[in-house]
Amino acid sequence: MSPARPPARDAVVSAQPARPVPLTLAGRRGRPPRHLADLDLAARREAVTGLGEPPFRAVQLSRHFFGRYTEHPDDMSDLPRTSRAALADALLPPLLTAERELSCDEGTTRKTLWRGFDGALVESVLMRYPDRVTMCVSSQAGCGMACPFCATGQAGLTRNLSTAEIVAQVVAGARLLAVGQIPGGPGRVSNVVFMGMGEPMANYANVVAAVRRLTDPVPEGMGISQRSVTVSTVGLVPAISRLAAERLSVTLAVSLHAPDDKLRDTLVPVNRRWKVDEVLTAAWDYAAVTGRRISIEYALIRDVNDQAWRADLLGSLLTGHLAHVNLIPLNPTPGSKWTASRPAAQREFVRRLEAHGVPVTVRDTRGREIDGACGQLAAQARP
Ligand code: SAH
Repeated sequence: MSPARPPARDAVVSAQPARPVPLTLAGRRGRPPRHLADLDLAARREAVTGLGEPPFRAVQLSRHFFGRYTEHPDDMSDLPRTSRAALADALLPPLLTAERELSCDEGTTRKTLWRGFDGALVESVLMRYPDRVTMCVSSQAGCGMACPFCATGQAGLTRNLSTAEIVAQVVAGARLLAVGQIPGGPGRVSNVVFMGMGEPMANYANVVAAVRRLTDPVPEGMGISQRSVTVSTVGLVPAISRLAAERLSVTLAVSLHAPDDKLRDTLVPVNRRWKVDEVLTAAWDYAAVTGRRISIEYALIRDVNDQAWRADLLGSLLTGHLAHVNLIPLNPTPGSKWTASRPAAQREFVRRLEAHGVPVTVRDTRGREIDGACGQLAAQARP
């Protein structure tokens, strides 16, 4: 992101006597500055005409951002020099500043720590595979869901990210790939997973708008296939139903982690509000409406949720439904006494699910050594 230009907001001169500024990192309150990725194309046209520019400037700016991944006025040679700065200040304010980058897997896994306009910290992870590039993005700074095995859940919620702050994480990854900064030659972002920090369904409007921006074709958006986008949720049932009604072809992932309410009440505390059967009913409705297979996320935690009888119970809940299970060997998080299942327990869990006819994969633990794997994103400025 471009740290150079300060947001235009700073230039506003207040007639009020100066109030003491809180000495916290998150001292600047309020919303992130408005960005063109917050707006659909019609609203972008309105915004540029409000600046006294012809409406087609909205398309030009959108092509720069969504098609060429640039937000620098100097790169916009198709815009009159006299208008560039004003348009960029109004519609392409800097949102996220890269604070730290960590890589592993010979540079093909790359985690970025971002600082927002108010000091809020979030992380995104780029993962390049032979056949695809997945961006794992954050939808909130922190998370309010308090799952005890997840590092993000331990810190609580700071705030929702704006639509443009979510999109900007993907655009930043696309830019790195386009200029060949990720080993493997120039490439594109093919997949986006909302599996970074935050509960996407608790920031519903901004997340759905971000999905539209990511998947609408250039210049409206980035042109990533809807089928290559996965939204992961702890199971906020009304939001799942709402998402089904959006008629988007995105994959829904449900973080189940236990097939029984007694255990799930503790592992995913929101289960006290919406029980396993309600969450799965909403998921099957989603599958019926969209035709998309549901991804059931299940972190295997040694001697906590990895017993053979739980595999059988899970298998019996899922059999006959449009679902597959993604087993995630638990990634270590600071202060947690839990650890990943023994290999034999994991194998038996897989075998029993398969015996129920349920498709199952074991997720790789990419990014573990840079605390970039599932559940490890904690966004500390200093490790
Ligand atoms: N809040 C959403 C989005 C986060 S997705 C959700 O919970 O679905 C991150 C995925 O990683 C979720 O399935 C989450 O439960 C899982 N996860 C969290 N902590 C983990 C850990 N320590 N090891 C493995 N998976 C973990």
